[in-house]
Amino acid sequence: MDLTTLTHTELSERLTALREEYAGLQDRGLNLDLTRGKPSAGQLELSRPLLGLPGEGGHTAQDGTDTRNYGGLQGLPELRAAFSEALQVPVEQLVAFGNSSLELMYEAMVDAVLFGLPGGSAPWPRQGRTAMLCPVPGYDRHFAVCEKLGIDMIPVAMTADGPDMDEVERWVTEERVKGIWCVPRYSNPTGVVYTPETVRRLAAMETAAGDFRVFWDNAYAVHHLGEGAPQPADILSLSAEHGHPDRVFVFGSTSKITMAGSGVAFFGSSHANVSWLLGHLSRRTIGPDKVNQLRHARFLPDAEAVRAHMERHAELLRPRFELVHTILDKRLGGSGVASWTRPRGGYFVSLDVLGGCAARVVGLAEEAGIALTPAGATFPYGKDPQDRNIRIAPSYPGLDELRDALEGLALCVELAATERLLAAGRPA
Ligand code: PMP
Repeated sequence: MDLTTLTHTELSERLTALREEYAGLQDRGLNLDLTRGKPSAGQLELSRPLLGLPGEGGHTAQDGTDTRNYGGLQGLPELRAAFSEALQVPVEQLVAFGNSSLELMYEAMVDAVLFGLPGGSAPWPRQGRTAMLCPVPGYDRHFAVCEKLGIDMIPVAMTADGPDMDEVERWVTEERVKGIWCVPRYSNPTGVVYTPETVRRLAAMETAAGDFRVFWDNAYAVHHLGEGAPQPADILSLSAEHGHPDRVFVFGSTSKITMAGSGVAFFGSSHANVSWLLGHLSRRTIGPDKVNQLRHARFLPDAEAVRAHMERHAELLRPRFELVHTILDKRLGGSGVASWTRPRGGYFVSLDVLGGCAARVVGLAEEAGIALTPAGATFPYGKDPQDRNIRIAPSYPGLDELRDALEGLALCVELAATERLLAAGRPA
């Protein structure tokens, strides 16, 4: 039923019915959570063998390194080799460090702020106000890093091909614009995959800032739900070909491959940028946790092993995403008040509701015991100018819980939209 075409009387009747249904939902006393994109317990079990690796006596790396000892700041070569293909970074330009790519993004930005970047005249704040381009909707933790470090955020529209490159190319003519956040395959939360042309333009564009960086957060590089979308073009090589060898910082991790809290993170870039980062990291630590790196290398020794492992994740994730579409189609298809993405990978579905309703939907869901990511979270400063976007994270709950949460969410979407349409005034 297309709510936007109903008369005042029809909408009022619909509202009464929806309110009754909502009261029933509240009475169920649910306690469900669709907030963060965490792997489910079943997914974590796929990596159970890691808990027994490298095993007593198995602490020696291929090159003879005793992983128990200090050193090896760039990370174990065999692990970097295993992830080089997925991240499209040559082994010698890849760093394996720590357990969180977000931490490496934060580190890179702090170092840019404190010390400046190769190609830059000074640390960022000494060059005046600085800004990052933020494709929206986007990942809230990217925005939180900028906010914490006093870097302004400029939203740019996300299209089906990646960020709106006309907008991006206009903005980068300003020297204060120092970079752009990108999640190239299966963007958070839209699931968008950057097209080759988008990647080419990011690599080729001239920027006013000499120390401009593309923060290429390839968090979902191998996280397909079925037949994967094509690998985005190789931005590191393309940038070098276009005369901007230092343009790109590639990030990735095994957080959603092995264990979200105990994985390994990666940074890849030009030799100059890798030396720059390692120079800063070397003041923080004498080396990363190589025992963890070794057990990862034993568990996932090459790109083929990573692929096979990710297929097992897909088997667990696929039914959850299918359920999202089934319920939203059934309940909101043709309603005129909601649209959502159908990603081929990643962890999220991006739901757009009737403008001005997202916060109300999240509030209604919360009062019915269904926790959603706060409305606005997918925009810089938590402010969605149209109050429309809601991020759905279906990976963690069991299928029964997910069904309840989505049915409840769909009801709240319809209820909030009906209220709003009525308040806006309809023909009798
Ligand atoms: N980037 C994106 C786009 C993410 O969605 C996430 C996690 N959900 C991260 C980074 C965090 O990755 P890590 O665990 O490696 O810090």
